[in-house]
Amino acid sequence: MVIKHRGDYDVVICGGGTAGALAAISAGRNGARTLLIERGPFLGGVSVMGFYPHSFFAHSGKKAVGGLPQEIIDELIKREGSLGHLRYEGGHLYTHTPVDCEILKVVLMQMVMDAGVDIMLNSLIKDIGMQGNRINSIVIQTKADTFSASAKTFIDCTGDGDIGYMAGAPFNKGRQDGKMQPVSLMMRLTNVDLIKLANEVPTQTPVLWADKPRSKVKTPVYFRGVLTPWEETPEYQQLFTDKNHQMFCLAPWSTEATVNTSRLVGVDGTDYNDVTNAEAKSRIQIFNVYEFLKKYIPGFAESNMVGAHFLGVRETRRFVGDYELTEEDINAGRKFDDNIGLAAYPLDMHDPEGGNVTFTPIGGDGSYGIPFRTLLPQKVENLLIAGRCLSTTHKALASVRSIAACMVMGQATGLAATMAAKENITVKEVDVKKLQSSLESQGVILY
Ligand SMILES: Cc1cc2nc3c(=O)[nH]c(=O)nc-3n(C[C@H](O)[C@H](O)[C@H](O)COP(=O)(O)OP(=O)(O)OC[C@H]3O[C@@H](n4cnc5c(N)ncnc54)[C@H](O)[C@@H]3O)c2cc1C
Repeated sequence: MVIKHRGDYDVVICGGGTAGALAAISAGRNGARTLLIERGPFLGGVSVMGFYPHSFFAHSGKKAVGGLPQEIIDELIKREGSLGHLRYEGGHLYTHTPVDCEILKVVLMQMVMDAGVDIMLNSLIKDIGMQGNRINSIVIQTKADTFSASAKTFIDCTGDGDIGYMAGAPFNKGRQDGKMQPVSLMMRLTNVDLIKLANEVPTQTPVLWADKPRSKVKTPVYFRGVLTPWEETPEYQQLFTDKNHQMFCLAPWSTEATVNTSRLVGVDGTDYNDVTNAEAKSRIQIFNVYEFLKKYIPGFAESNMVGAHFLGVRETRRFVGDYELTEEDINAGRKFDDNIGLAAYPLDMHDPEGGNVTFTPIGGDGSYGIPFRTLLPQKVENLLIAGRCLSTTHKALASVRSIAACMVMGQATGLAATMAAKENITVKEVDVKKLQSSLESQGVILY
């Protein structure tokens, strides 16, 4: 096999999802020769399945997330791709930030390109080369060719932590019995009568309504319904494993909803057979959910299914870093000397056994710090981690896996990796005070 050398870089970012896209923009803008490798055909990963990047504000009303994530929202607003931060009175979040997932893909790609990053799409990282405790190079498989690339510093933004895993960094998975949060497949429906839905389906939290482009009336933008009245139907009993099953509808447009209500338990997102089975089963499952919605649920009778993404995996590997973020930290709204940014999304636990979803608010002022130490895996000198594979407990991950927090980690690691590469030091030797002051000058909120 001939391996073509793609180049020698300061920073290589592995995975172009939520954290990876921002890490690339950050590294590129801070002057690093940067390569971003993504196995799919677009950037954004799980965040471009139709979700909202929740919690730019803490429940105290204080802004918690600025910097690059805010710049992305500003760019989206310019392109009619976001309604901005909408106050959610009486809800479990202070604000919601509706975004259109297709326009988010465009904005991320544009910003990464503008930062001068070399981008490889449809490219899977399948191996690494080590020298002692350092990663020397990675092997990238495309349809046509196999490439290698080397760098001074690498960032693992693969969600599953593929790079740290290949490098031998220690990790945990799931709770003590190994069970992880369920996986879900999202579907996008058009021709939904959102007003009827919000008026006729019971909810446990208020409906958030908004003015949307080209609509003369306000329509729901966030709706969290419960399907309790339909529990006795045979379809419900076949499709849902819990009582009062919840249906999350995210609707940045006036007649469209991204519906998050499917769920499969017992799936390990790093196991090929599990993932294949789950992709197949959940695709059939969402079609059956769609048929159920059309038949029973007000507002969906005339709807059409126009899109369904790939399997959404909430949890797999969590590296053992220099610090492990815990639920106690989140419950206390704790801040750290080495905060690289803040997160403000409550603990959003989807029961690994298939029960319901619970939201637990953050204590203190409603935000907590993400310590730099949670992004430093053990045993590998030139690797940073960002996104949902950071060092955290199973419970704390239920909060810090949120999109805004992953974006914050992306921005911070992009800069830290650049500093390490330029100064020829290990990632643990990065001067945290200098990192924090540069992040602050780039709009990151640290308090
Ligand atoms: C069903 C579901 C609903 C959610 N809802 C919300 C919500 O409403 N709001 C919210 O804030 N958060 C939500 N989340 C959480 C949030 O979306 C994710 O935790 C977050 O986006 C993860 O970001 P990441 O960068 O760590 O991983 P990802 O976004 O998954 O990015 C990883 C990227 O790496 C690529 N990759 C992986 N392995 C390789 C490899 N070997 N080589 C090359 N590329 C590779 C992948 O293709 C992917 O693009 C939800 C998650 C799920 C699953």
